[in-house]
Amino acid sequence: MSKPVWTSPETLALHGGSHRADPTTGSVAVPIHQTTSFQFQDTGHAARLFGLQELGNIYTRIMNPTQDALETRVAAIEGGVAALAVASGQSATAFCVLNLTGPGDNIVSSTDLYGGSWNLFANTMKQMGVEVRFVDPTDPEAFARATDARTRAYYAEVLPNPKLQVFPIAEVAAIGRKLGVPLIMDNTAAPILCKPLQHGAAVVMHSTTKFIGGHGTSIGGIVADGGNFDWEAGGARFPTLNSPDPSYHGAVWTEAVKPLGPIAYILRMRTCLLRDLGAATTPFNAFMAIQGLETLPLRMERHCANAIRVAGWLAEQPGVTRVIHPSLQGGEAKRRADAYLKGGYGSLMGFELAGGMEAGKRFIDALQMFYHVANIGDARSLAIHPASTTHSQLSAEEQAQTGVTPGYVRLSIGIEHIDDIIADLDQALKAAA
Ligand SMILES: *Cc1c(COP(=O)(O)O)cnc(C)c1O
Repeated sequence: MSKPVWTSPETLALHGGSHRADPTTGSVAVPIHQTTSFQFQDTGHAARLFGLQELGNIYTRIMNPTQDALETRVAAIEGGVAALAVASGQSATAFCVLNLTGPGDNIVSSTDLYGGSWNLFANTMKQMGVEVRFVDPTDPEAFARATDARTRAYYAEVLPNPKLQVFPIAEVAAIGRKLGVPLIMDNTAAPILCKPLQHGAAVVMHSTTKFIGGHGTSIGGIVADGGNFDWEAGGARFPTLNSPDPSYHGAVWTEAVKPLGPIAYILRMRTCLLRDLGAATTPFNAFMAIQGLETLPLRMERHCANAIRVAGWLAEQPGVTRVIHPSLQGGEAKRRADAYLKGGYGSLMGFELAGGMEAGKRFIDALQMFYHVANIGDARSLAIHPASTTHSQLSAEEQAQTGVTPGYVRLSIGIEHIDDIIADLDQALKAAA
C-alpha cells in the first residue's frame, strides 16, 4: 500500500500501524493471536529471523501480531519509529532505564513521579547499582548540573500528580541534546494531548492501564522510540548500544540496525531485555488496549471538557480551600500547560478540604457514583484520599513534600454526564462539611 493519507490522532487511533485487515480471514478487528509460537516457512526463513536479517514472529514472549498492531499504532500516534508493548507501565519504566544502564551508571529524574516509579528508582534501581539523581523539574538547568560522564538518560512525567505542573519538555530535551543525554517521558496522564517526541524527547512511555485502556480492565505498558536520537554519536555514553553484544555474536546494535532504520534502542529492548527478563504482555491484554486506543481521542475530549467544568465549580465551593488543575494555574506553570497540552488540560485534579483529614474521609465515604480506587484514567470518575490511603505510610512532613495534605482529595474525572458528576461531588461535599 502507498503511504497512508491520514495523519490525525483521531484517525490513527483507528487506522494507524500495521493492521488493516487480517490477511488470512479478512477480519477488520485486530485478531487475538493466542499462540505461543509461529511456524517458520523453511530453515532459511528461521535462520533469517534469528539472525535479525528479517523481523518476524518467532515466540510470543518476544513478538506477536496482536502486540504488533498495538505497538505500530501507538508509534504512529506518538510520531515515533517503533514501539514495544510490555506487561505493565512499571516494566515499561524499568526497561526504559535498564536498556541504557549498568552498575555505576546514573540517570537524572524529576522528583515529581508516580509512586511506583519513585520506589523503582529510589530502591530497586539502587540495588541494581544504578543511581537515580532526583532534581526539581521547575529548574531545567538542574538536569545539566546533575549530569556527568556516566549519566545515561533524563526521566520525567508530562503531567505528574499531585502538583499537575507540566514538565518543561523542550527545555530539558534541549539541555540533554547539547550534553548528549536522551530525555525519556512518561506520557501516561496526557495521551493525545501531548506529543513529547515533537518537543525533543527521545523516548515516550505509557501505562496503557490508564487512559489508553480506559475501561479499567487490563494492566499494560508501552515504550515508543522517537528514532530521533543519535546513539552512535554518543559513543561510550551508551555502552549497551555501541559496544559488542555477546548475546548476539558481538553485534553492535547501532550498526546492526542500519538496514532496518533508527530503531537501535527499541530493538535492543525487545531482543535483549524482553527476551531475558520476560515481562511480556499477553495477546488478550494487547487486544484490550487496542479497544481502548480506538476511542481514546474522543474520550480525552470529554475527560478534558468535564474536568475543566469540575475544576471551575470546585473553586467556588465553600469548604474547598484550593483546587489544583492546569486550567487554574498561572505564570510559568500555565505557560507550560498551554505550550505542551493541546485540546485540554487533562482529567486529573486535586482539591483541598478545609476540614482536613476527617472531612477528606467523610467526603470519600459519601460519594455515590465516583469509585474510591487507587487508579486514574478510567472512563468512570474516580476519587482517592491520599493521606488515609496511598500516602498513609509517610510522615506528615513527607506527605507535605510530595504535595499531599490531610484534606487533599485526588480526582480522575470520567466521561459521564457533567451534571451527574457535579451532583455527586455536591452531595459528598455537603456530607463532608
Ligand atoms: C500507573 C502508572 C504507572 C505504572 O503503570 P502500571 O501499568 O500500573 O504498572 C507509571 N506511570 C504513571 C504516571 C502511572 O500513572
